[in-house]
Amino acid sequence: MITSLDIEKIREDFPILLEKVNGKSLVYFDNAATTQKPKQVVEALNCYYYSSNANIHRGIHSLAEKATASFEATRKAVQQFINAAHDEEIIFTRGVTEGVNLVANTFGKAFINQGDEIIISTMEHHSNIVPWQMLCEEKGAILKVIPITDAGEIIFEEYLKLLSSKTKLVAVVHASNALGTINPVEEIIKHAHAVGAKVLVDGAQSASHLDIDVQAMDCDFFTISAHKLYGPTGVGVLYGKKELLEAMPPYHGGGEMIKEVTFEKTTYNELPYKFEAGTPNIADVVAFKAALDYINTLGKKAIAAYEHELLTYATAKLLTIDGLRIIGTAQNKVSVASFVIEGVHHQDLAIILDQQGVAIRTGHHCTQPLMNRLGILGTSRASFSFYNTKEEIDTMITALNKAVKMLR
Ligand code: PMP
Repeated sequence: MITSLDIEKIREDFPILLEKVNGKSLVYFDNAATTQKPKQVVEALNCYYYSSNANIHRGIHSLAEKATASFEATRKAVQQFINAAHDEEIIFTRGVTEGVNLVANTFGKAFINQGDEIIISTMEHHSNIVPWQMLCEEKGAILKVIPITDAGEIIFEEYLKLLSSKTKLVAVVHASNALGTINPVEEIIKHAHAVGAKVLVDGAQSASHLDIDVQAMDCDFFTISAHKLYGPTGVGVLYGKKELLEAMPPYHGGGEMIKEVTFEKTTYNELPYKFEAGTPNIADVVAFKAALDYINTLGKKAIAAYEHELLTYATAKLLTIDGLRIIGTAQNKVSVASFVIEGVHHQDLAIILDQQGVAIRTGHHCTQPLMNRLGILGTSRASFSFYNTKEEIDTMITALNKAVKMLR
């Protein structure tokens, strides 16, 4: 194995990987659902509660200042992580789902009207479909869907045909959780901007694998979930271009997002606080920085190269299984291997794999319209992280062969 990463040492940072499941060593291949957390993140969480806990922004006592500084340090770290131009372009949310809903309920409310069009792709996660359907229903706007090939790639000519002066927003996933496909977001954005549309990129699956530079990408919005980036659950980020965020009405009303409140009229706070009503998830935001630091120390290039090596290895091994078909064979993929096996139901497969300690995800992966397009009910999905090994892939292959023998 050629990698600059010290995988054994990395694994020591993830105590959960030593867990036994059904008497077997855990093989965790459900990283696209959520990643495991290194000790550094758990320690940051502990440390925050043991030594810094206070409510932020409002207090002028020392502890409140310490908590505020730690919270704002994560905002800076995220800004650098995605190369945003300004730290006030970083809005903390609960995750990608809340980020998309925020944009639908603010940008959508202000700028999308009857007859306007929103474009999404066939491979979107439900969280990048349903908020737009709800908005379209409310506003009388129209949802258009970019078709895909059987390999799971966007058909670009069809996308171009959908674009027009009626297009107000294009919302696409950067990397598909169900297929692994990496979409050509820069090209998608360029063409959307040419007709005056804004673009939201769902970065749930890409931020942990790919270098993200929102300025180079030129997206208008980018959404992240910390729990898919080795950070805590309940924290996410919505990046938005400053001038856009400034033009948008607030989302939730309450404390923190106001400048001045009277019973007659309320004025709103400046960015980013305008979009952060109420006490946020302070501890988890603080601990998220430890996750970003961890990724930065390993380096995205080394991570991507190693994960690609795991994907290539796994794909070749999977294809040795009789009747197995890979779902998602795009040219550019993150480390997601989705597959179906003839004559074997994915749920049965998952149960038998679990008995062998192997955690994979099965089902529709919150992409039911995609499954419909592909004519399948669901897939089995193994998704790899930098702490996984080829030996673990071998364990999965042995377990799969055993399962196939039992189930056929
Ligand atoms: N988009 C994609 C591509 C995802 O994989 C997920 C999580 N499975 C989401 C959106 C939603 O993320 P969250 O549940 O963290 O809000």
